[in-house]
Amino acid sequence: MKGSVHYEVRGASALLSIDNPPVNPLSSGVRQGLFDGMTRALDDDDIKTIVVTGLNRAFIAGADISEFGAAASEGAGLNQVLDLMEGSTKPVIAAINGTAFGGGLEVALCCDYRVALATAPLGLPEVKLGLLPGAGGTQRLPRLIGAEAAIPMIISGNPVLAPAAFKMGIVDQVVDENVVEAALTFAADLTGRGSPTRKIRDLSDKVLADRNQSDLFTKAAANLDKTHRGQFAPAQILKCIEAAVTSDDFEAGMAVERACFAACLGDPQREALIHIFFAERAANKIPGLSKDMPLIDVQKAAVIGAGTMGGGIAMCFANAGIAVQLHDNDPEGLKRGLKVIEGNYARTVAKGRLSQVAMDQRMALIEPADSLEAFGQADVVVEAVYENLDLKKEIFVKLDGIMKPGALLASNTSGLDIDAIAASTSRPEFVCGMHFFSPANVMRLLEVVRGAKSSPEALGTAMALGKRLGKVSVMAGNCPGFIGNRMIGGYSRQANLMILEGASPEQVDAVIYNFGLAMGPFAMADMVGLDLGWRARKMRGGSNDITARIPDALCEMDRYGQKNGLGYYRYESGDRTPVVDPIALEVIERVSENLGYQRKVFSDEEILKRCIYPLVNIGAQLLDEGHALRAGDIDTVYVNGYGFPNHVGGPMWFADAQGLSSVLADIQRFYTETGDEAWKPAPLLERLVAEGKTFASLDQ
Ligand code: NAD
Repeated sequence: MKGSVHYEVRGASALLSIDNPPVNPLSSGVRQGLFDGMTRALDDDDIKTIVVTGLNRAFIAGADISEFGAAASEGAGLNQVLDLMEGSTKPVIAAINGTAFGGGLEVALCCDYRVALATAPLGLPEVKLGLLPGAGGTQRLPRLIGAEAAIPMIISGNPVLAPAAFKMGIVDQVVDENVVEAALTFAADLTGRGSPTRKIRDLSDKVLADRNQSDLFTKAAANLDKTHRGQFAPAQILKCIEAAVTSDDFEAGMAVERACFAACLGDPQREALIHIFFAERAANKIPGLSKDMPLIDVQKAAVIGAGTMGGGIAMCFANAGIAVQLHDNDPEGLKRGLKVIEGNYARTVAKGRLSQVAMDQRMALIEPADSLEAFGQADVVVEAVYENLDLKKEIFVKLDGIMKPGALLASNTSGLDIDAIAASTSRPEFVCGMHFFSPANVMRLLEVVRGAKSSPEALGTAMALGKRLGKVSVMAGNCPGFIGNRMIGGYSRQANLMILEGASPEQVDAVIYNFGLAMGPFAMADMVGLDLGWRARKMRGGSNDITARIPDALCEMDRYGQKNGLGYYRYESGDRTPVVDPIALEVIERVSENLGYQRKVFSDEEILKRCIYPLVNIGAQLLDEGHALRAGDIDTVYVNGYGFPNHVGGPMWFADAQGLSSVLADIQRFYTETGDEAWKPAPLLERLVAEGKTFASLDQ
């Protein structure tokens, strides 16, 4: 059996110390050890109280997810252990020395009292993997702290630190050190007071108060629609908490929890969320880059271009405690950029999510630079000037002359040729792409783009830097648009073709919204601004692409999107809600008829396939070409950079779930119907179908 529990007698207390390094998951030996230790302590008349703690750095980090099949049924069952603890006639005190997550916190909730070290995080993160706390967490936490506080804690899955947990009433005492000694003292004090127990299952004052709030659960359900739209587990969690509040019968609530847990286990969202969880971790492993390879020691960073992206990237460095210089060739642009940064931080301070001291420290790390020459001592530079290859090459020529030897030269280009940029320097091995997403200080994704000559040291540094900046980094090959933007091109094109063929922006947007993205392609286009693409096309002397005809026509009528209240939709002043506008629909129909389309009716299902299957087909090409290393990398990009719903698992996972043969059949049908080369099935997709395999099978 894995893990053990040490038993010691300390005065009139039994001290049970869980030992299952590094983070004390509830493996078979831990469960059995807790069971045996509890039994021994209960049988010993000299023992008046029982203290449970963890050795190593955690209290208990949760279930042992590596334990499958036989191992999972070895030793005492978790419920047996919890029953014994909760049924104990002698007070049980959890000495929470470190992480108490999931089953770990549920163990602590079966104790009578909890004493925690101030640095210990406590949380019930099961929802993040499509589950719910299934060992009584949904029943005990509301009884302890009330449903109003329990709902956000369990539904967000986010941990709280011990001092916050103390304020919420989850822990009874917080100490800065020696938590075991503090718990033993707490225990001795209880003994002195006749050893009162305090079973959470018997507490009722909080839930009785919750019962008086008639709209608590209707409000919470409405809120779920905003924060967890379309997700299965959060709604199940709410059902469990409601059961805890509405019934005095603890066992009845536990039965609801068991049923809801089983429902979550059987729901496909759970597998999708677990897939993303592991895919994000796997994305960091790059063949050819070893763990102990020497990397550039990044102490000082520099960013060129203080616009939308450059400002956000500078904030990323400052947030990670890295000094960063920021330069823009337009002095007004630099001033504006710094103002935007300051404003962003000030808003976070106003919301109470950052202290003024931390804001001041971060601002102090950002140093405006009047000229590029100031960058000589930086270890890394990220270029974020306009998306223009000639301009970027010119900048890299200058950087080559300025940056110290061995510095990393990265471009934030959205899709230009990294090799062409690298070739303008004498050190292409130190050049790669670091493609942040907007807003850079918020979005978790970073695409690290590998140039033909990028060295392992440069790539390893960029990946490690991404981690330091709190990003999920994915390695992409150097092809137009890299992974994400190359794929999104296919999605947008189909959306634009469908409105020419007969769909309305509203219908397409509704399908995509209901699928789980924050907004559809036309609401998104209005938000970004239709005029950006229009101006770019005009600068290139116009475009033959028929999908540009509608946005061009809208822009020619001064409909630029949200910024001036008119685009594909209409916007009431000060409101970002799109309202259907018959004038835009007339424009769409006119352009469509002028191009000779016979407008047709689309089913929602067809719209979804036309939007999502290009992602799958292009994703398969990227894999075949080696521009994406894994199907899971593509899913990671989509979930973290493009708002693809993580409970669907990303486009490649979604395709697997649909069945690749049915996906291929639809792609073949679109190809035959339209003759559009973009629908030519990717050879990899055809191979996988012929072999009866999935994208996921490639990653194993
Ligand atoms: P932006 O127009 O907001 O900012 C560009 C800044 O670069 C401006 O402040 C400009 O004054 C400055 N600049 C131009 N030429 C310069 C020079 N020679 N020296 C110094 N500064 C110069 O543009 P942005 O949206 O921040 O985009 C920057 C880069 O990031 C582009 O390559 C873009 O493709 C890429 N990108 C943009 C987004 C996005 O959503 N905006 C997302 C990912 C990547």
